[in-house]
Amino acid sequence: MKIMTGLYQIKVPNPTSDRVYLNSYIIQGESGWLMVDTGWNTPEAFNALAEGLQEIELDFSDIKEIVITHSHPDHYGLAGKIREHSKAKLILHKKEMQYGEPRLETTDDLLHIIAKWLIKNGASNDELPQLLEASPGLKAVSSFVLADVFLNGNENISTGIFDFEVIWTPGHSPGHICLYEPNKKILISGDHILPHITPNIGLGPWSGENPLGAYLSSLKSMEHLDVDTVLPAHEWVFNGLAKRIEELLQHHEKRTNNIMRVLGAEPMTAFDMAFHIPWMIDGRETAFGYLSAMDKRMAIWETLAHLELLLTEGIVKTYTKGDIVFYKAW
Ligand SMILES: [Zn+2]
Ligand SMILES: [Zn+2]
Repeated sequence: MKIMTGLYQIKVPNPTSDRVYLNSYIIQGESGWLMVDTGWNTPEAFNALAEGLQEIELDFSDIKEIVITHSHPDHYGLAGKIREHSKAKLILHKKEMQYGEPRLETTDDLLHIIAKWLIKNGASNDELPQLLEASPGLKAVSSFVLADVFLNGNENISTGIFDFEVIWTPGHSPGHICLYEPNKKILISGDHILPHITPNIGLGPWSGENPLGAYLSSLKSMEHLDVDTVLPAHEWVFNGLAKRIEELLQHHEKRTNNIMRVLGAEPMTAFDMAFHIPWMIDGRETAFGYLSAMDKRMAIWETLAHLELLLTEGIVKTYTKGDIVFYKAW
């Protein structure tokens, strides 16, 4: 699909849901094309990209650079395969290497780390098997390859036609980046800013310190960017960047208030707290007990991200009993 002259979007199918596609962007350059984000490591995703390129009379060999907004499997999964087919340079923020779930060799390693983290945050041994259910599937659609170029943020990635500034936007993942084109007033926003979905900001084994604090400040720093068109990695292209940022900031403030209401003088684990907070799934309020294994984990991660921010602000305090971490209000 053409977004503007020299810039196209390809919708890449999701192996687990037929609603949320990954948007890959294909951008013209003077001596080759730039691809932003690839999709999952599945044959269907690969075929969708091949067909999308064919529609604009390109093939993989026309791609000279692949920029990945962050290393989640829906963005990075196919990066290695596309590089093989295109000989393109693979570009990623260096923080995605430092952390990064996909790097783990086996599902067992992955499960072991998640299990330890869940126990530390209050999940009981009875609940563990169910909470760990969703991981093997995730591993199957990721593949880890090493990038060729590592970014820090503030670099310029120019195709000769489009001049992008790299903006480091940690939060949803520690090395998330957005690409800003000031002349054309476009922002490729990855998962940092989506038009309707609220990006998951969680404190898990791979998220770096205080991801919510990082997310909120990287959102605020973008409020004044001169942008007409936002090109997100999921859902649809939209206008009104500042308004969407405001909505996201308000959402997190509301969530913080929910957590503050649950917090009391009695110490609680993040798991206990997640149990007492309302969760929104597909626009409907859902009790923690009814969430899927994956959503439960995300709920615990999200609760932890809020708690960590409240900790740094001196609003809650924490202590450890045995191997388990508890929180309470000051
Ligand atoms: Zn993501
Ligand atoms: Zn994503």
